[in-house]
Amino acid sequence: HAKSIGRNNYQLFESAMNKRAAERLLLAGDLRRALERDEFFLAYQPQVCLTSGRITGMEALIRWQHPERGFVSPGEFIPLAEETKLIIPIGEWVLYTACRQNKAWQDAGFTPVCVSVNLSAFQFGQPNLVAMIKKVLEETGLEPQYLNLEITESITMNNVERAINTMHEINDLGIGISIDDFGTGYSSLNYLKKFPIQTLKIDQSFVRDMTEEHQDVAIPTAIIAMAHSLNLKVIAEGVETEVQQQMLRERGCDEMQGYLISRPLPALEFEKLFHSLPGQEQLLAN
Ligand code: C2E
Ligand code: MG
Ligand code: MG
Ligand code: MG
Repeated sequence: HAKSIGRNNYQLFESAMNKRAAERLLLAGDLRRALERDEFFLAYQPQVCLTSGRITGMEALIRWQHPERGFVSPGEFIPLAEETKLIIPIGEWVLYTACRQNKAWQDAGFTPVCVSVNLSAFQFGQPNLVAMIKKVLEETGLEPQYLNLEITESITMNNVERAINTMHEINDLGIGISIDDFGTGYSSLNYLKKFPIQTLKIDQSFVRDMTEEHQDVAIPTAIIAMAHSLNLKVIAEGVETEVQQQMLRERGCDEMQGYLISRPLPALEFEKLFHSLPGQEQLLAN
């Protein structure tokens, strides 16, 4: 009897696994067609200076509007895009779209700010990455100082020396680099010192713990101090409350990003927000 229960459980497990695998396969097929069907768009989230309140930049975040499933979150499809290598054409589309949009905003008279684009580890390991970035800048006409790339510590897992070389090549183009989700990865402080980067982004999990009751601010405080001693800029991610904003400001954090200022917005809505925040005198003068 015990044996048959074991077998039944296994069959249940197996059919659940098959169902999951089949679903992923279906989603992968849809993902493959999503680019040509024009189902992606970018949302932009402002990055704001903690002392002046001005927009200093924005992060471009991909959105997938699936015809039947509705909105599919990047947390779900980006890992799948990496597994299937579809992240290569999708990532190129993201970079191209973000650069073209930023250039269009500059041409329309908005104060020029930097757009940050996320790169996945697999993208970062592509031998033609730097050539691809260069091509996108040339085709869109965006100046390199207005592009920033966000990478996570995981890009260095396979070959640190090679990753550092690629970072140097990106810097040589005049493009800045941020370490995203900082504090959640594995990179040693020894490597961090060698990375040619300009910005650390404090992971939102640490910001989430900074509540009025807990005041759990030890890690953000340490990251801010360390970043500044390495001459890096610090951005806090996922800032949702005034209390978090205040604690970060008191500790000298440079910039913040989060729902307190704005959710990531489609381009047209971002434009309206852009008008409403300080720092647009240049636009008014035009
Ligand atoms: P990330 O790069 O760390 O992006 C920050 C995530 O936090 C975004 O989720 C953003 O919408 C969310 N967020 C921003 N402010 C707040 C807040 O105040 N509270 C909370 N709870 N969340 C906030 P999103 O857009 O779902 O993206 C998730 C992840 O997917 C990104 O994390 C990034 O790793 C990846 N991703 C998104 N777009 C791209 C892309 O174009 N290419 C690549 N390779 N990855 C992307
Ligand atoms: Mg990011
Ligand atoms: Mg992040
Ligand atoms: Mg993340």
